Amino acid sequence: MSKKFFECQVCGDIHYGEAGPAICPTCGSEEAYEEIEEIEAKEATGL
Ligand SMILES: [Zn+2]
Repeated sequence: MSKKFFECQVCGDIHYGEAGPAICPTCGSEEAYEEIEEIEAKEATGL
């Protein structure tokens, strides 16, 4: 499985991996991660 970018829809935290975390490590929300395109992740992180 290839790695993808996921963004927490609550706090905007970016996660890179095979799946989004069940619980956001930053804000604690459950099932808040949605897959996003790499370009969106770069814009969100300012890279
Ligand atoms: Zn979050």
